[in-house]
Amino acid sequence: MSAALSPLAAAPTSSAIALYARWSRELDGKIGAAVERLQDAAVAHGAGLVQSSSLGVEDLVITDLIARHRLPIDIATLDTGKLHAETLGLIPRIAERYGREVAVFQPVNEQVIQFVRREGEEAMFKSIELRKACCGVRKLEPLARMLKGRSAWITGLRREQSGARAEVAFDEDDGQGRRKLSPIADWTWAEVWAYVERFEVPTNPLHDQFMPSIGCAPCTRAIAVGEDFRAGRWWWEDSSKECGLHVKP
Ligand code: SF4
Repeated sequence: MSAALSPLAAAPTSSAIALYARWSRELDGKIGAAVERLQDAAVAHGAGLVQSSSLGVEDLVITDLIARHRLPIDIATLDTGKLHAETLGLIPRIAERYGREVAVFQPVNEQVIQFVRREGEEAMFKSIELRKACCGVRKLEPLARMLKGRSAWITGLRREQSGARAEVAFDEDDGQGRRKLSPIADWTWAEVWAYVERFEVPTNPLHDQFMPSIGCAPCTRAIAVGEDFRAGRWWWEDSSKECGLHVKP
C-alpha cells in the first residue's frame, strides 16, 4: 500500500475524553495499586529505573502519576525522526506542566542515511522485513542506548490493547536481563481517559482523530468503530502490530 493513502488528511475530530472517559468503581483502587507499583520499583531499582514513554496517552498517565507522587524516576522517549509534530509537541508540554525533562533518544544519523539510501524513504511499505529493519534503525537501536545501564523500565502496555498484549504482566523479564514494568496493564481504555479528564493530563491531539495508538507518521492511521486498538499501526500488514520494542523473551 502506498504512503500516499495516509488517512490523516480526511481524519475527522472528536474529543477523546467525551467519547471514552468513564470513571469505574475499580479505578480508585487501580490508581492506588499503580502508584504502589511505581513506588516499589523506585525503591528496588533507584537510578536503574526509567520510564520509556511513547508519549501515548497511557504513558502520559504514568508520567502524571510519577510527577504527582514526586517519584524519582527518569522519563525518556524515542524520536525516530518520523513522528508527528503533535507528538513531539508533548515534550515541552511535559516540562511545562510537571517541571520534568524528557530525555530524547534519536537514531544514529549515519545509519538512517544509509538505510534510506539503500532501501528508500518508503521501505516500510515494501515488506515486513524492511519495515522491521526501519524500526530496528529508528527505534530498537536508540532504545538499547536508553536502557543501557538500567535494571528496569516502565511501559504503558495494557492487556486490552491487542490480542498480542492480552497477557502483559505488571512485572516481567524483558529477555535482556531487565525487569519490564507495566503498572497500568489492567486499566481499560475508558479508565485511562477518565484519569486524563480528572487530572487534566496533557495528551496528543491526534487521539481526538480516532488514533488510539500513535507511532511514526507514515505508519499510523485512524481506526474505524470496532477495530482493534492497534489496527491503525502498520495497517497494511497482517502482522501482530509490534515493532520489536515489546517482544516476548
Ligand atoms: S514505525 Fe514506521 S517509520 Fe517508524 S521506525 Fe517503524 S517502520 Fe520506520
